[in-house]
Amino acid sequence: ILLPIDENNEQISSNVKNVVFSEATPIPLENNVRLVCVSVDALANILDMDPDVSNREEFVEFVSGRKLPYGALPIAHRYGGHQYGLWAGQLGDGRAHIIGEYVNSRNERWQLQLKGSGPTPYSRMRDGRLVLRAAIREMVVSEACHYLGVPTTRAAAVIVSDEAVVRDMYYSGCPRRESAAVVLRLAKCWFRFGSLEVLSRAGELTVLRQLTDFIIKEHFPDIHLSDENRFIRLFSDIAHRTLDMVAKWQGLGFTHGLLNTDNMSILGITMDYGPFGFVDSYDSGFVANCSDGEGKYALAKQPDIGLKEERWGDEQLVEKLLDMMQQTGADFTATFRQLAELEPSELVSEVKISEKWSLKRLSSHASWGCWLDQYRERLDKEAVDASSVGMFEDERRRRMLSVNPIYVPRNWILHEAIVDAEKDDFGKVQFLLEVIRRPYDINPEAELRGFSAQPPQWAYALKISCST
Ligand code: AMP
Ligand code: MG
Ligand code: MG
Repeated sequence: ILLPIDENNEQISSNVKNVVFSEATPIPLENNVRLVCVSVDALANILDMDPDVSNREEFVEFVSGRKLPYGALPIAHRYGGHQYGLWAGQLGDGRAHIIGEYVNSRNERWQLQLKGSGPTPYSRMRDGRLVLRAAIREMVVSEACHYLGVPTTRAAAVIVSDEAVVRDMYYSGCPRRESAAVVLRLAKCWFRFGSLEVLSRAGELTVLRQLTDFIIKEHFPDIHLSDENRFIRLFSDIAHRTLDMVAKWQGLGFTHGLLNTDNMSILGITMDYGPFGFVDSYDSGFVANCSDGEGKYALAKQPDIGLKEERWGDEQLVEKLLDMMQQTGADFTATFRQLAELEPSELVSEVKISEKWSLKRLSSHASWGCWLDQYRERLDKEAVDASSVGMFEDERRRRMLSVNPIYVPRNWILHEAIVDAEKDDFGKVQFLLEVIRRPYDINPEAELRGFSAQPPQWAYALKISCST
């Protein structure tokens, strides 16, 4: 199932059959290649590297794909996908190379992948490159999601060069030359729903069975290869993992802009971050990707893509809150954080609410007082069972504060970091990476920069395209 490289590194892969991977050599970036940022945690705790090595020229050569680790066999993966609900046929890694699997000191197996490392047999006339803004967004959000408790692929480093690529830019409305970058990504594996779909669609059933058994053996140790229901169990397991992932997204107002099956991991981890967004002013119809005009992948619809929403008893209370948030344009992240911060006495008095900007907006809603009463009643019901109300309150606040972050990588914050990075100043990107490592704790410098405050007016006009 590995298609060997041909003499010209140019297999015609649009018609290949019975293939899961193709050998493919990265085309390293040339021309003033330099490091943008690293994830200290990913380097140290996944790759067993002293983060200081990232200052070496050799590290930049490694991320560019020029200096491959000993034993590395770079490959591109063949997959397909449903895009916006329609079968799009074969796609595959068009600009990514899996360079190998690393077994780390904790005995975890991680596959290293370069993205933006040049064309592969699956590129189909495209350049195989990735622009700096997309590399930075992927780097920051995958690390942020990790610290926010969202299952996700990881990112270890970004490099950039003076090599130019042209993309249509939605910020400026016209094509623009941008710098080519590479992001070093990490995951236990890079298989997607589309990895299996492409084989099934093409009727390559022997390989489909082979690959599915391989996936079960490597990544689903609880399912036995001798079990005749193993494929059903795998399907069910993937569905549940995906449901858990989407539930986490919804709790954070995270919206994946391209929820196509070629971008959905069989491990139930968030992958292929493109035009994603964390909603600011709450809007259930929030669409992160400006190419998604119909709102197929709108915030409130994400749980329904293949999956049914799970119902729970408090749904009405939550829906009422979301309704009020929608009508008042209350900020998603700040509202939940600020609700968590309220002391029991403040739940009725509204005294301190005036200091909390998002709750202030929310409390302008005619039904706010009524909702607050219901919310208190609901909390009181739980408190009755606790041994002491005071302890319950402490526990409630502790738990709420530990799941409702102060900081998420909002689009406007990423935008400002990217504008600087495009002028070769990587300070804001690096600072942002530091802030998102502790998303639940106040960071005085981040407060000064307004990271948890109401976004500036211009932020509401930002549009994120899927051309990356
Ligand atoms: P995406 O919409 O980003 O998930 O990508 C869909 C498909 O297009 C994937 O197979 C990508 O590898 C491929 N692709 C996207 N951009 C490029 C590019 N610049 N060069 C080659 N292939 C690309
Ligand atoms: Mg993709
Ligand atoms: Mg509902």
